[in-house]
Amino acid sequence: MDYLPFTRPSIDEETIAGVAEVLRSGWLATGPNVAKFESRLSEYLGGRQVKSFTSATGALEVALQVCDIGEGDEVITPAMSFTATPNVIMRVGARPVFVDVDSSRNLDLDRVEDAITEKTRAIMPVHFAGLPVDCDRLYEIAKRHGLRVIEDAAHAIGSEFRGKKIGSFGDLVSFSFHPNKNMTTIEGGALSFANPEESAKLDKLRFHGISKDEQGNMDVDLPGGKYNLSDVAARVGIGQLEKLDSFNEKRRKLVNRYFECWKAEGCELPSRGEGHTWHMFAPLIPFEKFGISRSEFIRKMHEKKIGVGVHYPALHLFSLYRELGYREGDFPHAEKIGRETVTLPLFPMMEEEDVERVCEAVSEVLS
Ligand SMILES: *Cc1c(COP(=O)(O)O)cnc(C)c1O
Repeated sequence: MDYLPFTRPSIDEETIAGVAEVLRSGWLATGPNVAKFESRLSEYLGGRQVKSFTSATGALEVALQVCDIGEGDEVITPAMSFTATPNVIMRVGARPVFVDVDSSRNLDLDRVEDAITEKTRAIMPVHFAGLPVDCDRLYEIAKRHGLRVIEDAAHAIGSEFRGKKIGSFGDLVSFSFHPNKNMTTIEGGALSFANPEESAKLDKLRFHGISKDEQGNMDVDLPGGKYNLSDVAARVGIGQLEKLDSFNEKRRKLVNRYFECWKAEGCELPSRGEGHTWHMFAPLIPFEKFGISRSEFIRKMHEKKIGVGVHYPALHLFSLYRELGYREGDFPHAEKIGRETVTLPLFPMMEEEDVERVCEAVSEVLS
């Protein structure tokens, strides 16, 4: 039996041929394919302004910079996410203020207001695994306190909140196109934004701080970074975007099968909800009760030729964030997820029989 990884990108032959064409064209860096990819993405997001980046991490960092967030500022973010989320807050010199997640594994909006101080400048929620945060409540809180919102939508391309695509509304919304995500540009990301007056500054922050006047004379008035996507990567993105909705449909179908086939009792399956795109399927397994460690579980699944991931350990328990004073016990939900989560195989090329095989293997390993 073939090894079943926990995720795997689907790149079709037409995209591969398209990439070969770009490679032969002589134009590899940012050019016509980036322009086309950005315009397709904008169309997909209902006409929003969109800029592509070499990564979501870069897009999130630039989003903080365009809001002038830095030294002395605080940004509220969940205690359970990929470490890129709080890292970029640290990188611009601000302080991440963690808030626990709730049973949806998204930021617990009941706790956000208690974390707001006069230093708070923004909220950076994560649409975890593609399940949208309650954006009505989120934006209502942000508005009441005059805060910017930077949505980490790395998992949520195609997800919808009350029938509206994540990134088709809201303040600043960042997507990731890393190969593990629901669509890929190999490495890459994008920022969807609301305020047209921020467009020129975003361009400068993305590319060396360079601006040009009507005569084409160059000026530099801020030390911008270097985050522009290549045409090769953008060509992959164009092919992926065409398939995105069918990829997400397949993910939903496979997840339904997971819910039907799951036998192991005492585990907590992820929250289902409207507009979910299932970037991953990550049940919580109380390993202590089963008398097995997570690493042992992963090893035994691997023996059965099944890949298992861990997304994610609680952020505040990493050394960097303990240095800010965070301790075990601060965020019980994030910590429980950190201890018990496993990411099981889910990607569009899988079949329902693969899901059945995974469910059986889990039951065997836990029994
Ligand atoms: C993947 C991921 C990122 C970073 O994306 P890159 O494109 O790899 O920089 C940020 N936040 C979350 C929640 C992620 O899963």
